[in-house]
Amino acid sequence: MFLILRKKRIFLVFILATFMLAVIFSGFGSYLYYGKVAPVLAQGKPLILIDPGHGGRDPGAVYQNIYEKDINLDVAKQVEKILKEKKYRVSMTRTKDTNLVNWKDRGSYQRASLIERARIAEKRNARYLISIHCNSDNNSNYSGPQTFYHSQSVSGKRLAEAIQEELKKVNNTKRQAIPGDYFLINNTSCTAVIVELGYLSNAGDRLILCSPEYKRKLAEAIAKGVEKCL
Ligand SMILES: [Zn+2]
Repeated sequence: MFLILRKKRIFLVFILATFMLAVIFSGFGSYLYYGKVAPVLAQGKPLILIDPGHGGRDPGAVYQNIYEKDINLDVAKQVEKILKEKKYRVSMTRTKDTNLVNWKDRGSYQRASLIERARIAEKRNARYLISIHCNSDNNSNYSGPQTFYHSQSVSGKRLAEAIQEELKKVNNTKRQAIPGDYFLINNTSCTAVIVELGYLSNAGDRLILCSPEYKRKLAEAIAKGVEKCL
């Protein structure tokens, strides 16, 4: 009698445990499917869009035979390579020295090219946009890299500050990440920042911006800053 009861009890415990496990696993399964994990799996990793400023007939800032468009592309490609090697999803607005839209004249091209870059960010559903440029100013004393973000974007500020912190380790500039009034950060829904690598109008910056070693360091700094915000 006692033995039979004990067997029954073990059997009941077994049934109960099986039932509970089924509930737990089916619940977890539905969490995976309907919860937070499923949309992430469906959408894949967030896209980081890298935009080398200018290109083709639009050289950007120029000093003698030094073109901003070439420095932008060189650094952008290296950022792309570093992040891709770390298995991030990365895309570029241009990978060659080409026009993004048809050329009419410089002014209308630049505007149309910016609209196209913003359109690419929206079309590809980019989560992050990093637009890479070189600065130029009438005051040739201005120097150093600097990042810009939309004044109302918390995530943009965070990303620009993270990149600026890393850039400061490469170039001992006192410049800070600051809000900027740029078409791309004003007209995109993703987290967008402008990275100015330095001033082509400054002799010291020009020299280092032509150095492959320095450009590699800039690219590594940008990639590190981006990684900190992912
Ligand atoms: Zn530029």
